[in-house]
Amino acid sequence: MERIFISPAKYVQGKNAIETIGGHLEGVGEKAVVIADKTVWDIAGHKVTAELKKSNISSEEAVFNGEASQEEMKRIAGIAEKAGASIVIGVGGGKTLDTAKAVSDEINGYTVIVPTAASTDAPTSGLSVVYSEQGAFENYRFYHKNPDLVLVDTKIVAEAPPRFLASGIADAMATWVEARSVIANGGKTMAGGIPTIAGEAIAEKCEEVLFKYGHLAYESVKAKVVTPPLEAVVEANTLLSGLGFESGGLAAAHAIHNGFTALEGEIHHLTHGEKVAFGTLVQLALEKRSLEEIERYIAFYISLGLPVTLEDIKLKDASKEDIMKVAEAATIEEETIHAAFDVTADDVADAIIAADQYAKAFKEKHA
Ligand SMILES: [Zn+2]
Repeated sequence: MERIFISPAKYVQGKNAIETIGGHLEGVGEKAVVIADKTVWDIAGHKVTAELKKSNISSEEAVFNGEASQEEMKRIAGIAEKAGASIVIGVGGGKTLDTAKAVSDEINGYTVIVPTAASTDAPTSGLSVVYSEQGAFENYRFYHKNPDLVLVDTKIVAEAPPRFLASGIADAMATWVEARSVIANGGKTMAGGIPTIAGEAIAEKCEEVLFKYGHLAYESVKAKVVTPPLEAVVEANTLLSGLGFESGGLAAAHAIHNGFTALEGEIHHLTHGEKVAFGTLVQLALEKRSLEEIERYIAFYISLGLPVTLEDIKLKDASKEDIMKVAEAATIEEETIHAAFDVTADDVADAIIAADQYAKAFKEKHA
């Protein structure tokens, strides 16, 4: 099988980077559709359109309704088409950005991604996760190209809730855990081939940066300031994790995350990264990892306020049937778990219970 590595054409990150967006789009087009949800329009959307105006690019404003569903993607693509836009700019979190990619694909546009938090590794990839209107995982949608420009303003990221950064750290912590398992198994990545040395190196570096600077970055965001550790972690959460998951491989952690979206109830209030944090512990429980190694992850997650037990992800009273439902959804034929593991739903259900028990024992020991 071939080695494949894919990436966005340009990545820009820095304090007040939004002020440079017009310069990066010089000669690209004259009409943009800018997509953001209601809250983000106030935080960053209008800043973006004001900067575009300075570079003679006019904007059609689209308000994202909150779910990256097929219906929403079609609706906004209609707005873009009607406006005659050739540039599609998504401003906000993972679901807004995934919707912007789909809209741009529909109109064959120039894709610009402006994350307002470092909360997921969605920005750089050439795929979207599509959810139902009710928020259940439906499928991955792949595009013929990655975004043309990813622009991260770290001043805006520093002002986002600390929980968002912690969620992005959790999403990025899964990257090396999943990539190394795919590499060990010779599995296929989201880029459609086996991992490159580049994909492997990037995924491994991602985890190194997070263990080293994760806490300092979290404290920086609590104080709403931009620091060198925050810049490092924003790059790890966004660029390293983005390239690392797409060209390094997804495996069990994300499949288990997807499985959890099949349940009803309070779990839907958790962020993507929070569910991935627990999914990562489940993947470690599926592997033959030492106590020391598993406890390093549990301690790191707890210190960032991330969930580590079923109770933490609002599933304290989950029945055996519920756990089995998650495990079955995580092991459907199309799921990424098969890129690294030869396991059944029953094995995954056991690993979910084991991960919960390991974390409970850790908490008791350190109470
Ligand atoms: Zn993720």
